[in-house]
Amino acid sequence: MTGDDRESAGSRPLGPAGAAPQEPVGPGPHDPAGMGPHGLKLRTGVGVDAHQLVQSRPMVMAGVSFPDEKVGPKGHSDGDVACHAVCDALLSAAGLGDLGQVFGTDDPAFAGASGVTLLAQVVLQVRQAGWQISNVAVQVIGNRPAMAPRRREAEELLSAVVGAPVSVSATSTDGMGFTGRSEGVMAVASALLMSW
Ligand SMILES: [Zn+2]
Repeated sequence: MTGDDRESAGSRPLGPAGAAPQEPVGPGPHDPAGMGPHGLKLRTGVGVDAHQLVQSRPMVMAGVSFPDEKVGPKGHSDGDVACHAVCDALLSAAGLGDLGQVFGTDDPAFAGASGVTLLAQVVLQVRQAGWQISNVAVQVIGNRPAMAPRRREAEELLSAVVGAPVSVSATSTDGMGFTGRSEGVMAVASALLMSW
């Protein structure tokens, strides 16, 4: 940077390393209400879920059925860990607790309930609490089902339910742990909410 450039930087004072000073964003002493610039409020949330894989249970993951799978998740509902993790991420971001609190893990009303049904209910609650959903990301962790060929389908389905972009990815754990031994499957999700 030449002296002339420095002049043309104009009225914006430069920090010690030449960087423009940052305006305070998010909760903090300058922003006690958690309001960002222009009154935009942002909240992130995380959710994790895991279920055991057993024989004679249908495999449903991220709202998509895998009829050729010989095993499926054991659980009070359909055991769709991707949907459950997304529910928890949304509830976490909105400060509304978690799935167990909201629906009750043993509530007979939700016996066999599909993850998509639960997710639609959670989306409604999050919106009623005054939040808009910016986006959601969920990653499935395990050996099965094979998500890659159905990833787009799952993303379209979940994005329609959530009313915002949902990205779906998958990974394995290199043969380690309960996911690596195919004893179970898990998912981790993050969500970003906004209000203004
Ligand atoms: Zn679950």
